Amino acid sequence: MQACAVPDARRMLLDGERVDSASGATIPILNPASRSVFAHVPRAGAEDVDRAVKAAAEAFASWRDVPPRERGRMLLRIADSVEAKTEELARIIATETGNALRTQARPEAGLTADIFRYFGGLASELKGETLPLGEHLLSYTRREPIGVVGAIIPWNAPVLLAALKIAPALCTGNTVVLKAAEDAPLGVLMLAGTCQEHLPPGVLNVLTGYGHDCGAALGAHPGVRKLSFTGSTEVGKLIMEQAARRVVPVSLELGGKSPSIVFPDANEDWAVEGIIGAMRFTRQSQSCTAGSRLFLHASIFDEFLEKLVARTSKLRLGDPLDESTDMGAIINEKQFTKVCGYIEEGLGRSDARLAMGGLPPETGPLSEGFFARPTIFADASNDWRLAREEIFGPVLVAIRWEDVDDAIRMANDSHYGLAAFVWSRDIGQALRTAHRVEAGWVQVNQGAGQVLGQSYGGVKQSGIGREFSLEGMLDSFTQKKCVTVNLGLAAP
Ligand code: ADP
Repeated sequence: MQACAVPDARRMLLDGERVDSASGATIPILNPASRSVFAHVPRAGAEDVDRAVKAAAEAFASWRDVPPRERGRMLLRIADSVEAKTEELARIIATETGNALRTQARPEAGLTADIFRYFGGLASELKGETLPLGEHLLSYTRREPIGVVGAIIPWNAPVLLAALKIAPALCTGNTVVLKAAEDAPLGVLMLAGTCQEHLPPGVLNVLTGYGHDCGAALGAHPGVRKLSFTGSTEVGKLIMEQAARRVVPVSLELGGKSPSIVFPDANEDWAVEGIIGAMRFTRQSQSCTAGSRLFLHASIFDEFLEKLVARTSKLRLGDPLDESTDMGAIINEKQFTKVCGYIEEGLGRSDARLAMGGLPPETGPLSEGFFARPTIFADASNDWRLAREEIFGPVLVAIRWEDVDDAIRMANDSHYGLAAFVWSRDIGQALRTAHRVEAGWVQVNQGAGQVLGQSYGGVKQSGIGREFSLEGMLDSFTQKKCVTVNLGLAAP
């Protein structure tokens, strides 16, 4: 068990106080660009979870009765405070995740402020309905909070994902116990401190710990009335099992293996640029929406690929804090080894053609961190493990198609269904394709990130529930109560 002094800003938030774990144990935090430990955070266990859930349950009694507009105002103040610290927050995110400051960490910090502002503005939208039951009856619904929300998040966009749980859950009158990912807790702890400046104690509690002890204890705690999880499909299933045991509602935002279908009329530079965006190369493709299966029409296959390779080769890998860096490092050794394993598998296939990339450099500055090069395998088959499993690294497979029905069949031949991308100047053809693809989110002619207001989430094993939106907030964080009143003295 490791134990060392943890500065205040790196302590957990529990009942309005900065605390260490009950055991005093800590977790080392690695800088993925240098493979060196640069910080420690508390390692929470079941006892800490219990204290946090109790604090949240106690705070719920009064937080639920704070008028929604007042709760909204607090979220708006948080948004302003986060915005004022964007740069500091961005640098912490870049250091702990390995994501490049310019292309990823700074936009993440900016979007975090926007998330609080968006949900703060929605506080007046917690409306109910009335039922037309005649003059003698008034029947109406109320959107009530659920109680203590147990939220568990991954490391790939840690601060943004924390905000996506905290802001809508608090807006609707719930209280929160959030477990940050063990690989990237520092930005989340900073966000927690900023939130606490504007919230009553206990409304938000943030723990740092490993999944198997802290996460599992949070998932199983009887005081948690709602589970909201973002992470792997594998752990999502465990969370759903925990939720089933106590019949608590659960939201899951899980993995993906998203298809990009390119029609012959999109054999142009804007589509190439869009595919690079869709593949999230500048996040080392550590994104559940990464368009990692590229279905290129046979008539343009080689030409399009050539342009894609030329453009992707220009991406600059390097120090995440350097403003000229496009692409940073993979989060940790486990992921790095996993990504390398997939590349090795592709290199070992006699039927695979390496169009660019390959195994990471073994010498030079990039070998000091977990840097993986953008890698593209051409002439791939949708049956390969590389085309079926979520790699969560910059490995793209390009697959040939001739018949659109075949392209859609292959796109849908996956147990995932998070995002998809369709590329064509023929908008009728593009939309017909978009409607037939099994995915929660299809983008046509762009590979952009999520925007506030969209109902974001997956189908099939990519998840349950929607985030980023008003309806996602209402469905995920409120429960409807119906009140029926007899207005007349006689029975109706
Ligand atoms: P990733 O592969 O992206 O790290 P995981 O699903 O493993 O995704 O992790 C996402 C989050 O789930 C992290 O905060 C992790 O600590 C947590 N976690 C992992 N295992 C469990 C578990 N058994 N119960 C609850 N949470 C877990």
